[in-house]
Amino acid sequence: VKDWQALTQWALARRAFRRTPPRQQVLDVFTRHHLPMTAAEVHRRLKNRRINLASVYRALSFFSRLGVLTSVDHVREGRRYELSDAHRSHHHHLICQGCGTIQDFEGCFLGEFERRARKEKRFRILRHELRFFGLCQACAA
Ligand SMILES: [Zn+2]
Ligand SMILES: [Zn+2]
Ligand SMILES: [Zn+2]
Repeated sequence: VKDWQALTQWALARRAFRRTPPRQQVLDVFTRHHLPMTAAEVHRRLKNRRINLASVYRALSFFSRLGVLTSVDHVREGRRYELSDAHRSHHHHLICQGCGTIQDFEGCFLGEFERRARKEKRFRILRHELRFFGLCQACAA
């Protein structure tokens, strides 16, 4: 996972954009923590506590427009974001309907489906997102 993290940082370092402190700090949070986070959760994890929440929101929408971040889902506290597939491994999401936690689940089984869409519908799938809703271990107990 360490190598992959270095690779992510390298890929992001090569992208040309102005590195203001809030942008840099927000990116750091996403490369250090691989989980979907709301603006408030990102803000709590910032190393520099002087960056305000509004700056975090601006950085999140900036990186979303750039395709670096992707919005995963929407909870009461706002949207949750994470690095896009271009900057981390492809995976799906398990969302608990009891406590609202979201977990990454590595692995994909949709190759055959994508081949069929191409063959039967002449549709070339470029990306997909999948969310599964259910109960986590703690909530199911
Ligand atoms: Zn739960
Ligand atoms: Zn994820
Ligand atoms: Zn997939």
